[in-house]
Amino acid sequence: MATARKRHQGGTFQVHVKKGDQVSVRAGRSLNQAGRVISVDPQRERAIVEGVNTIIKHQKSQGSGRSPQAAAQQQSGRITKPAPIHSSNLMIICPTCNSPTRVAHRLIEGKQARICKRCSAALDRAK
Ligand SMILES: [Zn+2]
Repeated sequence: MATARKRHQGGTFQVHVKKGDQVSVRAGRSLNQAGRVISVDPQRERAIVEGVNTIIKHQKSQGSGRSPQAAAQQQSGRITKPAPIHSSNLMIICPTCNSPTRVAHRLIEGKQARICKRCSAALDRAK
């Protein structure tokens, strides 16, 4: 299952997901969960998706050298936060046909446009 792709040397990556996209998770621990892309890390081809692939961080309150008040104010205990997920595990949910789709890339008026393979609608809402 693990298909480790070779890392490119330098250069930029083209990740099919973008910040703000609605995506569905197709593999792994968070299978079939959906959420909005919060941020994309093109270097690692990973994205952070709202509410998906959450990890629980156990954080000790750091009391060393601090007053008890400061230690109490600090966020301690368990913190849940979304962890980066590989973009190959994500499918964009097309806003037009409302289902997970693969993405076609096409040049439209000199610009790269992302297009839904199901209904051929542009995924990036023109503004
Ligand atoms: Zn569509």
